[in-house]
Amino acid sequence: MMLSVSCGAGAAGGKMAFVPTLSFADARACVIDRVTAARSIPGLDTVGLDCAAGRVLAREARADRDYPPLARSVRDGFAVRAADTPGQLTVAGEVRAGEIAASEVHAGEAIEIMTGAPVPSGADAIVMVEHVTRDGDRIDCPLAKQGQFINPQGCEARQDSVVIPVGKRLDYSTVAWLAAIGVTRAAVFRKPRVAILATGDEIVEPDQQPEPHQIRNSNVYSLAAQVARAGGEATILPVARDTRDLTRTGIELSLASDLLLLSGGVSAGKYDLVETVLAELGAEFFFDRVRIQPGQPLVFGRVQGKFFFGLPGNPASTMVTFELFARAALELLGGQSESSLFVTQATLSADFRHKPGLTRFLPAWLSSDGALTPVPWQGSGDVPALTRANAFLVATPDREEWKAGDLIQVLLK
Ligand code: AMP
Ligand code: MG
Repeated sequence: MMLSVSCGAGAAGGKMAFVPTLSFADARACVIDRVTAARSIPGLDTVGLDCAAGRVLAREARADRDYPPLARSVRDGFAVRAADTPGQLTVAGEVRAGEIAASEVHAGEAIEIMTGAPVPSGADAIVMVEHVTRDGDRIDCPLAKQGQFINPQGCEARQDSVVIPVGKRLDYSTVAWLAAIGVTRAAVFRKPRVAILATGDEIVEPDQQPEPHQIRNSNVYSLAAQVARAGGEATILPVARDTRDLTRTGIELSLASDLLLLSGGVSAGKYDLVETVLAELGAEFFFDRVRIQPGQPLVFGRVQGKFFFGLPGNPASTMVTFELFARAALELLGGQSESSLFVTQATLSADFRHKPGLTRFLPAWLSSDGALTPVPWQGSGDVPALTRANAFLVATPDREEWKAGDLIQVLLK
């Protein structure tokens, strides 16, 4: 199918019209573009620093003073004048972290200094204690370079400069920064509410004993975990059985949320009703197939102002398509300034081949020496194989073969 646009023309009004199939890159760009264009600024929460990690900053944070506020020693040793070195110097005093030196360093003098202490005036270098021989109040000092082992005032951040921008997802280092600049309560964006609706006549709950033709509902739990990890607030709805009415009721309930994740019912089968029901509810479809595996029959669109994903029901497809597409939508709706996929390269430990045409995301193990080994798997239903993986091997659609030792793309799990 030839397309001149990267992101679908869509369809609406109770009837499916033309909906495009996209490549992986075009589909991801489509999600990011559509959500970025349509999103509004989320509401605000205020949280203490002990609960701030994982939240998205809603007010830029500025440095309350220079960091460091004074030039600071980064070694235990002696504060000296570089021009006096090498040579014999007299130790004229001491300054420890938490103190200001009582006197300045005059010609021929050194002041003993501890890591973190402010550099006394007059000094322009620190000599490490290990590099000095001391005899009473005299030291034999090697050549010092001006500025060595000194962090100048303001070298980390200038007073009043923006140190954490709006839209940054906070992690342990940003939380530390907030504490350092005296922010005790952070303004963060409210978490997007995400409805998770599984469809299927064959689905029973995990606490039930399935008949041989039934299967336990695992997708809603993998999705809830992925939603939480991406900063959303998941609501798991009761499974919608494969009738138009029940699917419609489930989707209508989901509309109370900011984002809809619908699992199953998007393939070409007679009882795959999700797209039909969405169309009846007036949905626009941006794409309904992506040239990837797992997860080809993936639907993305908007219904009654809410973005939705129709994720294929096979568990690996559900998990992978969430990571590749829905996570970006969720992160952007949550006020993050950007959403990225951590794709890097690794060295294949064995030969690998696939049928070109699709971008494949296959379970793999990335070891600490950078070697990537595919995990044997039986296809999109193989959850146990995914539990043995810490990464996905990414096989691009335009290449058929890789040899052991070749670089190949890898997406961290
Ligand atoms: P579907 O996309 O609806 O055709 O579903 C494809 C297959 O995915 C089904 O046959 C089930 O084996 C599996 N599946 C669908 N929904 C779930 C679910 N909620 N939890 C676990 N597996 C599921
Ligand atoms: Mg189904």
